Amino acid sequence: NMQSPRPAVRTTCPYCGVGCGILATPDGAGGLHVAGDPGHPANFGRLCVKGSALGETVGLKGRLLAPRIGGREAGWDEALDLVARRFSDTIAAHGPDSVAMYVSGQLLTEDYYAANKLMKGFVGSANIDTNSRLCMASSVAGHRRAFGSDTVPGLYEDLEGADTVVLVGSNLAWCHPVLYQRLAAAREARGTRVVVIDPRRTATCDIADLHLPLAPGSDAVLFNLLLAEIDRRGLVTETPDGLADALAAARATLPAATGLPHSALRQFLDLWCGSERVVTVYSQGINQSDSGTDKVNAILNCHLATGRIGRPGTGPFSVTGQPNAMGGREVGGLANMLACHLDIEDPAHRDAVQGFWRSPRMASRPGLKAVDMFRAVEEGRIKALWIICTNPAVSMPEADRVARAIKGCDFVVVSDMIARTDTTRLAHVLLPATGWAEKDGTVTNSERRISRQRRTLAPAGQARDDWRIIADVAARMGWPEAFAWDSPAQVFAEHAALSGVAGALGSDFDISDHAGITQAGYDALGPFLWPQSSRRRGGRFFGDGRFHTPSGRARMIAVTPRPPQPLSEAWPFRLNTGRVRDHWHTMTRTGLSPRLSRHLAEPFLELHPTDAARLGLVPATLAEVTSSHGRAILRVLVTDRVAPGHPFAPIHWTGETAPSGRIDALVDGLADPVSGQPASKSAPVAIRPF
Ligand code: SF4
Repeated sequence: NMQSPRPAVRTTCPYCGVGCGILATPDGAGGLHVAGDPGHPANFGRLCVKGSALGETVGLKGRLLAPRIGGREAGWDEALDLVARRFSDTIAAHGPDSVAMYVSGQLLTEDYYAANKLMKGFVGSANIDTNSRLCMASSVAGHRRAFGSDTVPGLYEDLEGADTVVLVGSNLAWCHPVLYQRLAAAREARGTRVVVIDPRRTATCDIADLHLPLAPGSDAVLFNLLLAEIDRRGLVTETPDGLADALAAARATLPAATGLPHSALRQFLDLWCGSERVVTVYSQGINQSDSGTDKVNAILNCHLATGRIGRPGTGPFSVTGQPNAMGGREVGGLANMLACHLDIEDPAHRDAVQGFWRSPRMASRPGLKAVDMFRAVEEGRIKALWIICTNPAVSMPEADRVARAIKGCDFVVVSDMIARTDTTRLAHVLLPATGWAEKDGTVTNSERRISRQRRTLAPAGQARDDWRIIADVAARMGWPEAFAWDSPAQVFAEHAALSGVAGALGSDFDISDHAGITQAGYDALGPFLWPQSSRRRGGRFFGDGRFHTPSGRARMIAVTPRPPQPLSEAWPFRLNTGRVRDHWHTMTRTGLSPRLSRHLAEPFLELHPTDAARLGLVPATLAEVTSSHGRAILRVLVTDRVAPGHPFAPIHWTGETAPSGRIDALVDGLADPVSGQPASKSAPVAIRPF
């Protein structure tokens, strides 16, 4: 009965945007042994607790194993026929914009490419948006304003080569743990100075030389003050477009709104200005704001004015939440983008993509972004909706309202690997999708490194890959030739070929070296950075001082900081939302690991002792938290990690796991006017004993 040991398969973690390489070995009983891949340049063998528990999450428990129509099990052909017919009929009766897809930064690039091609090139509507809208849309918009392209300029090794690393709105220790470990190791070795800018004293502060507990929402004030200081000290070395206006706006900014003591502010300004090599890392604390794009540009301004970009150990660095938020950007999976970082509003770009796809009609204008998309569902303007690999009934702001909107939609298809989620409950048709370890494809991490995910286990039940499900529906809608792929390798090769077309039009995204990749080449594909290092030294952008704008110069943006949503007598607390160390998104995978659930077992509210005393709340009792949109009941955790008036609650719990703990039900759908990213980071709320 002895089995010979199976070789480990090189794959990539499906959780955060660090994109760690994993060695997965089937245990012969349907499970996996998981270890960090020492040869992967994102993690060099490290894994965090979530990644190392992956083997506990690959069983059949909770899986959707067969297609379902109206709650009954159905065959694939019947389900695919129905989806294709309802979408085709809806488009015929009400036009292409009456249908929509809402997809995910956890899809593999090949799945994402197929979905985007179907909607933009064949349905002829850009009503495809993604949960990445909730995650990094403001970074995309900020990059495009400043660089003329959605380019992340830096690499992880820049954090290790910097003299000073500033982390703003990022709890790296919990949300990007392996990158945090790399930074902590560099700090040990080289004495890197670390600044954490966060209203909350998070675990990341363990390695901080300086923690600035700035007032929530005042980030743009702080970076404008920094820009004014840079100017005062004569450190402006570059001449980007918009320099004078940006400096004028910065000089007009007053420090009071940051709420920081003068000495702490001074220390920060001295550190940043005194460090030749500085990296500013930012994440959801910046992006998830109704002025997120301005906050991003306030950060980019400081790096552009001083030339601290494009050189080792320097640069602004957006760390993405999801495993493939970057891949989604590359394929154009956002409603306001085209494929391969091309511009949907540029007729020459649209023509080039249409010519490449030989498609019958192209979306000619941006589609509805996430918040507006679900409003259109609510109002009946979108009559057929296909949700893939995401759980918007929990994760969208005003989640109760979004759930009601989905419930009221004429026709809802949900592709998922999990049978029961808050969103699958609302579907007319459920399509079972393969999950991590069951499928082949690629993902791109936060430093633009493309890595393979590899199939290690057989698909659960009748589950199929998302790219294939999409292609099968497209074929039934009348476009079999354009979607006639046999493998994800062929999808990848097509995407790579299209990137060559994009590169010729000036796009920064060009992986056309892989356009002719074979199955064997795809199977053997190791992690690589784009642009490929043969073309740009070390995979770094902007070292030559040239940007993707018409003038070739970067653009600085004059930022006038805007305060966050006001508090009121009715809603006197500003709730800060975020993640915990051991759970991921809506817990559909991490919830399967008993080990991960031990860290923090239930939804909670961190409350400052003075707030707790004033409200008559003692530790471990329950608090009722309400906003104008919803209500949650949370376990009270009294701690001075949070400031008075600024409690914190994690986002992960759902109607399936803790019905009273759905935090995004409290959050307003107010979105940034430039990026469309909602201000999910905070919500004005009231709190009282339950
Ligand atoms: Fe996975 Fe992120 Fe942890 Fe790496 S740091 S193992 S990518 S969750």
